[in-house]
Amino acid sequence: MNDLKVVIDAGHGGTDPGAVSQSGVNEKDLNLMIAKYMLEKFTQAGVPATLIRTSDETISPTERVRRILAAYGDNPNVVVISNHINSSATPGAEGTEVIYALRNSDELSKNILDEIKKAGFPIRNVYQRRLPSNSNKDYYFIHRETGSTQPIIVEYGYINNPTDLKRIQDNYKKYVDAVVKGVLETFGIKETMPPMMPSTTNTYTVKAGDTLWNIAKRYNTTVEELMRLNNLTSDLINIGKVLIVPTSSNSTNSNGNIYTVKAGDTLWNIAKRYNTTVEELMRLNNLSSDLIMVGQQLMLPSSNMYTVKAGDTLWNIAKRYNTTVENLMKINNLTSDLITVGQKIML
Ligand SMILES: [Zn+2]
Repeated sequence: MNDLKVVIDAGHGGTDPGAVSQSGVNEKDLNLMIAKYMLEKFTQAGVPATLIRTSDETISPTERVRRILAAYGDNPNVVVISNHINSSATPGAEGTEVIYALRNSDELSKNILDEIKKAGFPIRNVYQRRLPSNSNKDYYFIHRETGSTQPIIVEYGYINNPTDLKRIQDNYKKYVDAVVKGVLETFGIKETMPPMMPSTTNTYTVKAGDTLWNIAKRYNTTVEELMRLNNLTSDLINIGKVLIVPTSSNSTNSNGNIYTVKAGDTLWNIAKRYNTTVEELMRLNNLSSDLIMVGQQLMLPSSNMYTVKAGDTLWNIAKRYNTTVENLMKINNLTSDLITVGQKIML
């Protein structure tokens, strides 16, 4: 299991519209639309991802960098994707380009551009850009000021080229799919398949006289749970319909820490909800991949472990759990109060 995390930046925002098309389309709005869909895609793939801005907000370069580094810490497994639309004085300029940092190889950028090409869109090239006053430094702050993360700028096309603009507006989801594919490929992550019905799930075929209420009672569950498991919008059932039923009569074990996978769940979502990690859930449940199926039962970690999130301090955690920094340091054998994102703390 790799440790990829993705910070998704929507370039510009608020009082800074970015480039503007002849027809009055603002780059900042396209960037945000792209970024939001990108978050959806990474989340679906089970990759932790977050947005730098979720609205039309003015953000200074300093604040943008602060948010980037605060998201998942300063490390090379953090990929920062800064989404932009280009503008050019050269008439007819078109196509996507990716700009990467001086500290990084071109692998990620090339993979992304390759996927965009495979999707049938025009591409330009991948490149680095140096500061004229100091050629050892990156030209763009998003590369220069972002520690050891792996930042790239994706310029999808030219906003002042009507053909490029229309192509991006009509196909932005396909562009994003290509970018996400390029990232997953670089980090060796297989795209997760949508949840499907496992052969091990218990099913029940509705017979004459059955009601959802009767079936729920028989399987020691509730009508609501059955409706949720089977994506039912009403409690009407037809004879012969095959229903997914909970695999064990009890939905919790003695510790109350069993979770039954519902439609739409990903291991990543569940991990987040229960304050743990995908790796931890895989370990606890002997999973060899992060694929989970509706109805599957997962063991959850006991509740006295806390996984450090971006922005946490030992002091905050101590306060939240009604203890002291000294106590947490003692229990966890810490020699300093420095903690890192992803670290597990005994409470
Ligand atoms: Zn821009």
